[in-house]
Amino acid sequence: MKKTELMVIGAGPAGCSAAIYAVRAGVQTVIAGGAMPGGQLLQTSEIENYAGFIDPVGGFDLMERMHKQCKRLGVEILPDEVASIEGSKSPYTLTMQGGEQYQADAVVIAAGAKARWLGLKGEDKFKGHGLSACATCDGFFMRGKEVCIVGGGNTAFEDALFLAQFCTKVNLIHRRDGFRADQVTVQQAQSNPKINMVLNSVVEEIVGAERVEGVKVKNVKTGEITQIPCSGLFVAVGAVPQTDFLKNSLVALADNGLVLADERTHTTLPGIFAAGDCADKYYRQAIIAAGSGAKAGIEAAAFVNLHRK
Ligand SMILES: Cc1cc2nc3c(=O)[nH]c(=O)nc-3n(C[C@H](O)[C@H](O)[C@H](O)COP(=O)(O)OP(=O)(O)OC[C@H]3O[C@@H](n4cnc5c(N)ncnc54)[C@H](O)[C@@H]3O)c2cc1C
Repeated sequence: MKKTELMVIGAGPAGCSAAIYAVRAGVQTVIAGGAMPGGQLLQTSEIENYAGFIDPVGGFDLMERMHKQCKRLGVEILPDEVASIEGSKSPYTLTMQGGEQYQADAVVIAAGAKARWLGLKGEDKFKGHGLSACATCDGFFMRGKEVCIVGGGNTAFEDALFLAQFCTKVNLIHRRDGFRADQVTVQQAQSNPKINMVLNSVVEEIVGAERVEGVKVKNVKTGEITQIPCSGLFVAVGAVPQTDFLKNSLVALADNGLVLADERTHTTLPGIFAAGDCADKYYRQAIIAAGSGAKAGIEAAAFVNLHRK
């Protein structure tokens, strides 16, 4: 069995930041990065809200910089994923998908999340071409245009209010006429003249040659199909934390799969920390993932340095 002082699970912004802070605190650090290290940002071509970049930076470019920075500082990035974690106290045993085993004094879980999409035919073709799962990230590119957003929870309503600030019209499409979002936010959206509620309705099809040009919407009560012209379709139906590999471990998860961690990133097990989208109910943004990764790196380094024999 191989040994490391710290194993970071995931080479997205959270994992890289955790590794950078830990290795600079003198802790031997390995990242399990998987076959395609980089995380969700690899899916986007333009990031305009990551501080420090005057012009938009490509997702691949940003992650490549983080990986090079990690390596320069002495972090090893493994091309393998963690399949399981065993133990109730440090050191923990991590089994990789390839079968290799590591013993780690501390662990940072930074496994991220995956956006939930609608599962429509041809959906992939429109991702990044008007179809987005992140209004905070891509909404600004839709200024002066009409858009649609799908969902009935707080994220959908907050996103609708955000988009209404600079889009000409926001059609909020929801399959029911009741909402999971809180009452105050619902009322704000209902009284906003730019937000049009399209209720009891589901998106049947995205229309467009190269980019989103509209959506076909079916009223689930009447069966009627209407077409709404729009330049952007935002899907706000939730994200799935990538934490299945923890289900047989002793790390506590919330019902929705998020890792339970406190504001200092400590999970329920000593020496195991969690950062980024896999533990974030609210924000799911790269700079926030990087910030919480930094916290986890500081905490993990303190843990290792305190318990080092
Ligand atoms: C299309 C799109 C556009 C976006 N645009 C922006 C934007 O403009 N600005 C912004 O701030 N945010 C944006 N985001 C959100 C941003 O990408 C995330 O908030 C951020 O990447 C979260 O970082 P993370 O490190 O927590 O997780 P991730 O980026 O998801 O990285 C986690 C990594 O861990 C890996 N992993 C999972 N399980 C394991 C395992 N068992 N072992 C090893 N590795 C594992 C995953 O494969 C992944 O590579 C966008 C997201 C998407 C999907």
